[in-house]
Amino acid sequence: MAELLSLAEAQTRVLGQVTPLDSEPVSVAHAAGRVLAEDARAVVDLPPFPSSAMDGFALRAGDTPGVLPVVARIAAGVPAPRPLAAGEAMAIATGGVVPDGADSVVPIEDVVDRDNEVEIGSAVGQGDNVRPKGGDVAANDVVVRHGARLGAAQIGALAAAGLAEVVCARRPRVAILATGTELRRAGDTLGPGEVYDSNGVLLATALASAGADIASLPAVADDEDAHRAALERGLEADVLVTSGGVSVGPHDLVRRLLGELGVREVFWGVAVKPGKPLAFGVRGGTLVFGLPGNPVSSLVGCELFVRPALLALQGASEPGPVFSAGTLAAPVRRNAQRDELVRARSRASDNGGIVLEPVAGQESHMIVRAAGADALILAPRGEGELSVDATVRYLPLA
Ligand code: AMP
Ligand code: MG
Repeated sequence: MAELLSLAEAQTRVLGQVTPLDSEPVSVAHAAGRVLAEDARAVVDLPPFPSSAMDGFALRAGDTPGVLPVVARIAAGVPAPRPLAAGEAMAIATGGVVPDGADSVVPIEDVVDRDNEVEIGSAVGQGDNVRPKGGDVAANDVVVRHGARLGAAQIGALAAAGLAEVVCARRPRVAILATGTELRRAGDTLGPGEVYDSNGVLLATALASAGADIASLPAVADDEDAHRAALERGLEADVLVTSGGVSVGPHDLVRRLLGELGVREVFWGVAVKPGKPLAFGVRGGTLVFGLPGNPVSSLVGCELFVRPALLALQGASEPGPVFSAGTLAAPVRRNAQRDELVRARSRASDNGGIVLEPVAGQESHMIVRAAGADALILAPRGEGELSVDATVRYLPLA
């Protein structure tokens, strides 16, 4: 591993291998987390009609102040029986259709409401409390752009604008394979030298949140035949993510066997800590990530490379990773050779900025220490240390 790629160069090479997946119709109710493949356009104007913003009285602003007869009562969902004439008022509910002939609504709190008439003490402004038809979006205008990932607000907007279905990228099928003779599943009893498999579930969790359709393969021992069979299966997916076995030990079989199975290695080795021996390759349309086995290395490699690749496969306009800015609560020693992702806890400072406190226990096997963090500080490689209050970039952890 003479030539370590820089983090930025490695990320560019990964994204350079991504061809966006095809798209499919998806019902809006089930589209959370999906990426739009086409602009979604409003079916109707929103609001679909001039709508009252308040419970009150629809009238003509020019008739105020004054005492006006109440000639109708308009509930939401039931339009007025007839247009409003000069000198009249109609009671109206929030969301009710403002009748033709009315130009404003005066809130119920601002009037004296008598049986069949209403007294308005001061002048009402033209258009007050009327939400114009199409004021949020006009029919056929874009509600959510292609490349956007759909969250609650976007899903709500699509539904409000009358879309029952949208066109989204297909979800990437992702096979996950943990390797290591020492691995046991939680619930089993550990024998001598054994550890529980953390990465299988860690990666499945992280990548499901990036929209993946996950197939978790059973972990394999450091055995050629077992590796070959499992890798072959994994290579049927759009993305194969392995953990462990990509370093230089005699039991590290993943890279060689991937090569034998026709995977072209794009790179191996990134100047990043943790996660240096990360391997990336392609076979046909399948992207293959070989993440190092230490659980924090797997987590970091996943966030820096695999999650962005999955979002790019889905056509996301901003696949990330998206770093934010914060300041250090404690000094961070820099690594001379490698950019380091330092696990940290974030909090808001008094002036509204984000302060980052590195957690104790930064070794790459310390997944429990990492679980106490919600941010990865990027400490660029170099000499000396980053001092307290230095501004740094960090990646929020989901
Ligand atoms: P490797 O990358 O295979 O050399 O593994 C490096 C370290 O990570 C070793 O201590 C392994 O036991 C540990 N390790 C590998 N895979 C896993 C896993 N799936 N869960 C927890 N620890 C692992
Ligand atoms: Mg191993």
